[in-house]
Amino acid sequence: MKAGKVYLVGAGPGDAGLITLKGLEALAQADVVVYDRLVNPSLLNHCKQGVQLIYVGKLPDRHILSQEEINSLLVELATSGRVVVRLKGGDPFVFGRGGEEALALKKAGLPLEIVPGITSAIAVPAYAGIPVTHRGLSSTFTVITGHEGEGKINTAIDWDRLAKDPGTLVFLMGVENLPLIVRNLVERGQAVATPAAVVSWGTRPEQQVVLGTLADIVDKTAAAKLSAPAVIIIGQVVGLREQLRWYENLPFFGKRFLVTRARGQAADLSRRLQALGGEVLEYPAIAIEPPLDWGPLEQALNELASFDWIFFTSVNGVEFFFKKLQDRGLDVRAIPLKVQLGAIGPATRQSLEQRGLKVTYVPAEYRAEALALGLGERLRPGQKVLLPRADLARPWLAEYLVQRGLTVTPVTVYRTVASSAAAGSVIESLEQGKLHVLTFTSPSTVNNFFALLKGRDLARLLRGVTIACIGPVTAAAVCDYGLTADVVASEYTIPGLVQALKDYYQRRERDE
Ligand code: SAH
Repeated sequence: MKAGKVYLVGAGPGDAGLITLKGLEALAQADVVVYDRLVNPSLLNHCKQGVQLIYVGKLPDRHILSQEEINSLLVELATSGRVVVRLKGGDPFVFGRGGEEALALKKAGLPLEIVPGITSAIAVPAYAGIPVTHRGLSSTFTVITGHEGEGKINTAIDWDRLAKDPGTLVFLMGVENLPLIVRNLVERGQAVATPAAVVSWGTRPEQQVVLGTLADIVDKTAAAKLSAPAVIIIGQVVGLREQLRWYENLPFFGKRFLVTRARGQAADLSRRLQALGGEVLEYPAIAIEPPLDWGPLEQALNELASFDWIFFTSVNGVEFFFKKLQDRGLDVRAIPLKVQLGAIGPATRQSLEQRGLKVTYVPAEYRAEALALGLGERLRPGQKVLLPRADLARPWLAEYLVQRGLTVTPVTVYRTVASSAAAGSVIESLEQGKLHVLTFTSPSTVNNFFALLKGRDLARLLRGVTIACIGPVTAAAVCDYGLTADVVASEYTIPGLVQALKDYYQRRERDE
């Protein structure tokens, strides 16, 4: 068996753009990625298909795997001949226990490569507008662990030296121990007027900064309810933030956008949103695939004349239905005139009309309840309805029609196949209120997205979430799911969409 290899890679402090090129290359090659809690999950989108993702994240008060178990896991994975990326927040050797992992791999005789990362000790202050050194203010910076060891702060720290240090002090893992850190310094003679800052979730949309001095930073941090992860910066350089603050001033600071995974223009959209300070969560382009079994549709096509209605519930449904007809050497003329066509919304209707078909019924409203009411007036008890749909279609429509006394033949005309790992992170972000804007650049991005959420309570999940569409057709596709677009670009291009979002947030800020 060929020997595996482990890349110990620094993922940077959070902003996905702050990983190195070499780190990205390693991710693209990996067979397995073992990653931590503070790693931005969108970095995992750079992995190849079929990669195995192993989360070994530590939670503040609960370790999922012990360090020894992680070390053995890495050894085991690499011994089985695979290319392993051990992806760690910031830099792997700055309080990351990367050294221990590297030693375990060396001891096992496994090839190892180390890809340094941008540490939060420098980048988080930088995103708060605080340079760790500055001519005339600070000629050194010291990075210190603020982590509690058995009830008291690590005794390996020379507090006397730190208290006298005229340079910048940067504490990681210290927010819970902030009162103790401040006391240790002040008791040893550090001036209480020394400026101090606490920055939590630096480089991310949740970034929060508390400014003060050693006299009041503890109270201010508690009042602001800042929590880990946070970096504490103590020293004169903190005063520069007032002039150098930049990240929070970007128009999309604080917003996390959902964008369909890079396909042509979507990559452009991600770049533009990030350039304006937004964070982007890319969700997987769902593959739309033919059904596993064409049998039910074939049979329905043989009996088309027996139906009163064909009711299409998506553009994809229309496309697969007609593709099958075409495969059989048929075209729209195979649909008998007596069969009426229904479409769930304007995008679906348009797709039928583009094929020269007359659509007799499109519900006026696209909310589920209203739709059902409208349907009841048109589709009469005793009628037969062919319902071409996706394999995982929402069942309420078929159920409603059956309740109304119609005979419904649902047939699967396509399947939606998504990477469940990525879908999981989208759903989790929505549930935790960490996704603020959904962007849609075509009806198919809308359909792909809602395929991910199939069977979930959309109203609850999307409460407070802004929906932004590139134009009215896409907005209409959103309506098909009973929702309304908050932002619709007036120029139907990616720059037009970004501009519409900028205007939207500017207006909101003015109104607040
Ligand atoms: N190897 C990492 C540090 C790991 S220790 C690095 O080089 O950055 C974890 C600590 O890093 C956290 O407790 C916090 O102090 C800091 N940290 C990491 N990411 C952070 C972020 N986005 N914002 C604020 N602090 C962060």
